[in-house]
Amino acid sequence: MTYSNPASDSLEISLEYLQQCDEKDPLADKRNAFILPENTLYLDGNSLGAMPKVAAERAQQVLSQQWPQDLIKSWNSHGWIDLPARVGEKIAPLIGAAAGQVISCDSTSVNLFKVLSSAMLLQSAGKTNRNVVLSQKGNFPTDLYMVEGLATLLGEQHCRLKLIEDSDNTHALEQALTDPELAAAVAVVMLTQVDFRSGRLLNMQRLTELAQANGIIVIWDLAHSAGALPVELDACNVDFAVGCGYKYLNGGPGAPAFIYAAKRHHQKLTQPLTGWMGHSAPFSFTSQYQKADGIAQFLTGTPAVLSMSVLDAALDVFSDVDMMLLRQKSLALSRYFHLLVQQHECLAQLRLLTPQQSAERGSQLAYQHKDAYAICQALIKHGVVADFRAPDILRLGFTPLYLRYSDIWHAAATLAKLVKTGEYLQPQYRVKHKVT
Ligand SMILES: *Cc1c(COP(=O)(O)O)cnc(C)c1O
Repeated sequence: MTYSNPASDSLEISLEYLQQCDEKDPLADKRNAFILPENTLYLDGNSLGAMPKVAAERAQQVLSQQWPQDLIKSWNSHGWIDLPARVGEKIAPLIGAAAGQVISCDSTSVNLFKVLSSAMLLQSAGKTNRNVVLSQKGNFPTDLYMVEGLATLLGEQHCRLKLIEDSDNTHALEQALTDPELAAAVAVVMLTQVDFRSGRLLNMQRLTELAQANGIIVIWDLAHSAGALPVELDACNVDFAVGCGYKYLNGGPGAPAFIYAAKRHHQKLTQPLTGWMGHSAPFSFTSQYQKADGIAQFLTGTPAVLSMSVLDAALDVFSDVDMMLLRQKSLALSRYFHLLVQQHECLAQLRLLTPQQSAERGSQLAYQHKDAYAICQALIKHGVVADFRAPDILRLGFTPLYLRYSDIWHAAATLAKLVKTGEYLQPQYRVKHKVT
């Protein structure tokens, strides 16, 4: 990764200006849909989304009525059995997917295993000798680990991971996708749309097009884009995607993830985790596996009803949200935050890793600093919740549904104060926690 210094931007940001932005903000009322702790500025919704009130109400319903009173009848009467499909259909419009292509289940890691296997099987059914899964070195580790696991299972000659060095542009990636010799061996390109460290946003349309023009199947990980910005899977002709329920979708800790598979592939797909919920008729209890027709073929076992009910309710917060407005606010929040950082001279040691071009960044900012961990802990102590990513990155997430513009001012002021006074150097802020 190379670090570029931010281009100058001369707009002077004041608290008054940000308060005016709040008054004009068409999404301002959405904050009332969430329960947020007092005296906390939450800049970590990219890691665990805040709790929508309707999510808490649904949890209460399931725990006080559905489970204890209605017991097993609830599979039908409360539609528990339809939760994976119903949740999938609520996520679909947020990621530009027409009906019947998204389903909620399992974790992102497990879902990656399923779509990776499906994509490799599609390639081998096409009698190609492609065995490479291409990805980026800085991709989220679990994504890469899942490829390694599949490679162990299938053997090197059928699956091997090749990583492209990350850089400030996607030149090396594009070259690998288009170089006649290199690309001919690539079965699948697996990319994360918004980089979890830097916040860099990849050009989905362009990379998908380049890959497919060379016979490569495309898998996108939307963990940091679903619910954070408009995604256009159908319009970009994407093959497969996976994503996360507990980040910008606010589904709660460990919420189920989701899978997208383009309809054109459904009939010829096979995925290896052939559990009964992916069967065409689970309750016929036949001994032969017969896959379900549509996107349901990606289901494996019984849905996690408690957590999926909560995710189902949480998604209703998005039902009337214009994703273009959400994106505008997200970009404005992060832009203003960085302008404030630049206005505080003492913060000059923080180096922005996130691209400043709006077309190239997601909904977070990442700053490199040798004491990023201690700074993050000190911020949390002062009520500004951010997170740390090893080895030296302070990460701040901007969630437009429940952050106010004026929050940005207070967060930047807190950061400046504890850096200026050197408070973050106190030993208490160096104590390492399991989760950072
Ligand atoms: C958060 C995240 C995951 C999480 O995977 P789980 O299996 O849900 O733990 C995967 N990939 C990326 C890119 C992520 O940001």
